[in-house]
Amino acid sequence: SPSAPSSPIENYLRRIHTEIAELRDGKPYSSIPAMANVDPDNFGIALATADGYVYEIGDTREQFSIQSISKPFTYGLALADRGMEAVDAKVDVEPSGDSFNEMSLAEGTGRPANAMINAGALTATSLVRGSGGVTRFNRILNTYSAFAGRQLTVSERIYRSELKSGHRNHALAYLLRSFDIIESDPTPVIKDYFRQCSVMVNALDLAMMAATLANSGRNPLSGDQVLDIASVERVLSVMATCGMYDDAGAWLSSVGMPAKSGVGGGTIAVLPGQVGLAVYSPPLDAHGSSVRGVATSQRISHDMELHFVRAA
Ligand code: GLN
Repeated sequence: SPSAPSSPIENYLRRIHTEIAELRDGKPYSSIPAMANVDPDNFGIALATADGYVYEIGDTREQFSIQSISKPFTYGLALADRGMEAVDAKVDVEPSGDSFNEMSLAEGTGRPANAMINAGALTATSLVRGSGGVTRFNRILNTYSAFAGRQLTVSERIYRSELKSGHRNHALAYLLRSFDIIESDPTPVIKDYFRQCSVMVNALDLAMMAATLANSGRNPLSGDQVLDIASVERVLSVMATCGMYDDAGAWLSSVGMPAKSGVGGGTIAVLPGQVGLAVYSPPLDAHGSSVRGVATSQRISHDMELHFVRAA
């Protein structure tokens, strides 16, 4: 509330929020028709520490679709379900240097380069099990919800829109099926992947999800161990090298934290043991990452000395 005393961190966040709001480059994602009408001025920053303190400024309660920020969480669940060896046989852990929707399949085997690009993400979705009467998708949704610490839901409108317009993802899934990387019927896999991309979150949810990764897979507020430590370690490693696609090298140099962007305008960054950061701002750069998300992360990393080299 406006009359509550504000902490130095909140004052700092307010200051950089005002400054970075001046950045007006980029355009919101338009390839999924149902996402085209977002307000480009929405801008929220949320920071959650690994011990559960939360700081926020701006439009942190505004909901948007998680999109590719879903990928590390589904990858983590696939690792927990199948074991690292079985997942590694299907998806590599090498940065492709390509954009998120590139084919990036190994010649001969069809193995995707990593689980952060669409080919690897579709494969990871296919590896999550349904169990005990709970469908594959509901296990995915329940896992995201446990990371966030509240029950999340799907935007049917965005889901249907991408199901109709996401031709390349349909093609990718069938190509992966032809290589036996995806071993089941590709159609339900595509649907579950689009559903996971259409999970609605706000910046606060994403900060809690990031803080749960920072806290070795345990949600700092609920105390729930959502993912085992070995899987968390692997997820953060792949986020560090591949999470920002063809911008991953520049990102790790300037921000120095494992991260993931999504075309819904969300960005998360994780400093293990310390903090999860989330930014929401829809206009995207050429890599499909939020312009203000990148600028804010660079700024906060610099000012708070969160770059992994400095933070050590
Ligand atoms: N649903 C989008 C797709 O698969 C997600 C892309 C992204 O956020 N980079 O194309």
